[in-house]
Amino acid sequence: MTVCKNCGAELEDGAVFCPKCGANQNINGPGVSEKEFITTLLLLLHLGATGAHRFYVGKTGTGVLYFFTLGCLGIGVLIDLINLLTGKFTDSNGKIVKNSK
Ligand SMILES: [Zn+2]
Repeated sequence: MTVCKNCGAELEDGAVFCPKCGANQNINGPGVSEKEFITTLLLLLHLGATGAHRFYVGKTGTGVLYFFTLGCLGIGVLIDLINLLTGKFTDSNGKIVKNSK
């Protein structure tokens, strides 16, 4: 049995949000991806226009889109780079790809 970190109410096992106060129980926010930050960065820098970094993190749909549009004509790659460097780039599970070492 776990309890809410905010209000102390009892929670269902694995609950992300407290049913009583709504507090997010995952103190690391959406969580950190198991995908390697440096691998994602290198793929993005070298092969970003082919969507390689998106295939790597499991975002196959947008990966294909990038492949056929040259990374949304480079704009998508640039946005991904900024998001990755600022800790906002997520994998297919919504977890943040960031340097955890
Ligand atoms: Zn609560």
